[in-house]
Amino acid sequence: MKILANDGIDPVGKKMLEEAGFTVDTQNIPQDQLAARLTEYDAITVRSATKIRKDLIDACPNIKLIGRGGVGMDNIDVDYAKSKGISVVNTPAASSLSVAELVFAHLFTGIRFLEQANRDMPLKGDTAFNDLKKNYAKGVELRGKTLGVMGFGRIGREAAKIAIGLGMNVIAYDIFEFNPEVELEFADEQKIKFKVSSVSKEHLLKNADFITLHVPAIDGKPVISNDEFAMMKNGAAIVNCARGGVIDEKALIAALDAGKLSFAGLDVFDNEPTPSKEILSHAKISLSPHIGASTNEAQERIGVELAQRIIDELKK
Ligand code: NAD
Repeated sequence: MKILANDGIDPVGKKMLEEAGFTVDTQNIPQDQLAARLTEYDAITVRSATKIRKDLIDACPNIKLIGRGGVGMDNIDVDYAKSKGISVVNTPAASSLSVAELVFAHLFTGIRFLEQANRDMPLKGDTAFNDLKKNYAKGVELRGKTLGVMGFGRIGREAAKIAIGLGMNVIAYDIFEFNPEVELEFADEQKIKFKVSSVSKEHLLKNADFITLHVPAIDGKPVISNDEFAMMKNGAAIVNCARGGVIDEKALIAALDAGKLSFAGLDVFDNEPTPSKEILSHAKISLSPHIGASTNEAQERIGVELAQRIIDELKK
């Protein structure tokens, strides 16, 4: 069987598929040529770039499986594919830790003003060093502070574990009842179970020093907007490594400008790949270009998990 890995696949995953008897082609066929050329393959894997819509599915009845390396399936017409008997698989857990670590990259950045210092140092670091030193002197520590985790799924749980390791108090809210126990694993393979506090949304908003969002995007309905910002502690901070649209960006800018929030960290944006200039140039926002899952380790885990799921589906 021939698999087109149109957005690439980690070499370890590719090797697993080849050892299981599949031929794996990692060339990228441009979107507008896929309908004509995908007919040579039995399965396709994509990341977020390639779109698998109804018309492509109709044009390629030979396709038995669509694999998505990653979580979100926004680029695939999943229900339609399934209605045509095509298996659709993804790798939801492989990148959770990488996303959670990025949350703390943004938190550590914000508490020491690095998002501003990194902009100022190249311009004024050699002429106004002592002024900058004074400007950025009032940092704080994460230890002992309260982290509010909104959405206690795969990534929320990983973020909670890191926070516990740092000595933070963790409060969590989810629309569904959840197991508040997490298991921390250390480098020497010791494991410790720890319980976080399950709280209401309102309690979380009112009591967290830092809030991190790990909920799915819900069309046109931000989870955090003016009312939620108003409930937060003065000087709280927020990180969104979930999806654009989860935070109301206008309300975020207003809360930052009013001094209600001390900083924000954003990996995801409205209107990706062209986020608003107001967000991109805001001095109190630490920015990354949707790289939550983009670590070498996560890519390898995605490749391995995807290969295993393809083998399980196509060899059964
Ligand atoms: P998950 O499904 O494991 O967890 C999501 C949790 O949110 C669930 O427990 C669900 O019950 C809860 N939830 C849903 N709506 C809620 C609401 N309104 N309030 C509170 N809780 C709510 O998902 P995950 O794998 O942890 O992913 C979380 C988010 O991270 C998703 O939006 C995903 O698309 C995003 N993500 C981002 C990146 C990145 O590159 N930045 C990478 C992977 C995933």
